[in-house]
Amino acid sequence: MKVETDMIESTNKVNLLGYSPKKLEAFFESIGEKPFRATQVLKWIHQFGASSFDEMTNISKVLREKLSAVAEIREPEVQVQNISKDGTRKWVIKLDGGSAVEAVLIPDNGRATLCVSSQIGCSLDCSFCSTGKQGFNRNLSAAEIIGQVRVAIRSFGPFDPSGDRRVTNVVLMGMGEPLMNFDNVVDAIHLMMEDNAYGLSKRRVTLSTAGVVPQLDKLREVTDVSLAISLHAPTNELRDQLVPINKRYPIDELVAACNRYMDSLNDKRVVTVEYTMIAGVNDHPSQAKQLVKVLKRLPCKLNLIPFNPFPNSDYQRPSEDAIQAFKMVMVRAGIITTVRRTRGDDVDAACGQLVGQVMDRTRRSEKYIPLKDETAVQIQKHSR
Ligand code: SAH
Repeated sequence: MKVETDMIESTNKVNLLGYSPKKLEAFFESIGEKPFRATQVLKWIHQFGASSFDEMTNISKVLREKLSAVAEIREPEVQVQNISKDGTRKWVIKLDGGSAVEAVLIPDNGRATLCVSSQIGCSLDCSFCSTGKQGFNRNLSAAEIIGQVRVAIRSFGPFDPSGDRRVTNVVLMGMGEPLMNFDNVVDAIHLMMEDNAYGLSKRRVTLSTAGVVPQLDKLREVTDVSLAISLHAPTNELRDQLVPINKRYPIDELVAACNRYMDSLNDKRVVTVEYTMIAGVNDHPSQAKQLVKVLKRLPCKLNLIPFNPFPNSDYQRPSEDAIQAFKMVMVRAGIITTVRRTRGDDVDAACGQLVGQVMDRTRRSEKYIPLKDETAVQIQKHSR
């Protein structure tokens, strides 16, 4: 009986974890309190890692009780944590409704980049991505997105309010298409970049999109986060097959929208262009030459991602020689090009391998039933 009451209480309360600074101010006004309380509570939640109002010692007991009656700070639950030999950390995060998403932290030369998910599954169905194969369930709330940052920081021990350096960069490159979950993603990135919360600079938070052009145009009205695009092909003919949303927003329109976004930033940042290299599909030197032509129209750098296989995928990773040959064409054309090296191999933490557990609402995953079984096996394997 007790458990049931708790559940009812917890669903009726507003979860302040995902409230952007503005929303939190509005919340305090709505309960008849001064807006400056928002700053105090933001710091408690995101810099001290508080999970209850009782911990907030600079707030009166009366107000703390008032807050506890209507609000909560609820973080999504970690189902599995895996730490790879190379230091990469991966979490399977359980969400209301039975699904799970994944987040990955990749330490590298003093930096620690956290890759967060924005949706349960994905509606875009890119042909080489395992998330897409699982169909789509729902958008994550802002609390579930920012909760992944809290989970990562907490995995190293208590919060350090004097300036936490355990997560130095965040990329929205996990499961889902961030621009299809616009409002919640924007609230979460505001918190990542807010001084009274995580205080990450706009250079250290990157939103990656497959190219939802209208939302990309909306983005510059509300934030100046860094931008990455998933291009993967130099021609519309090929991109239509790999990234189906290209049929709605072809390469020219995407490049134009990126230019509008970069112009709005008024600084020297460039777009990161992601290009997943698939053997015999998009890795030919002639395709590199075509890609040069596209990229010359955009201030950008190129990140080549050798395809990461997943169960039942038909594609293969190109040979190292093919990757280097492709890279050389780009470099000779003056395009800054890096190759993303696979990290966290032993915990299946690489790009395109994040599977979580999607309670599919579309009928897409039915086409990939063996994959679903493999996924189940994989999750069991992690929880051992
Ligand atoms: N939907 C967004 C966010 C996901 S980002 C986007 O498309 O940008 C995940 C990145 O990993 C994308 O660049 C994606 O194309 C790439 N990726 C997906 N599956 C992959 C795979 N199997 N191997 C290598 N890269 C992959």
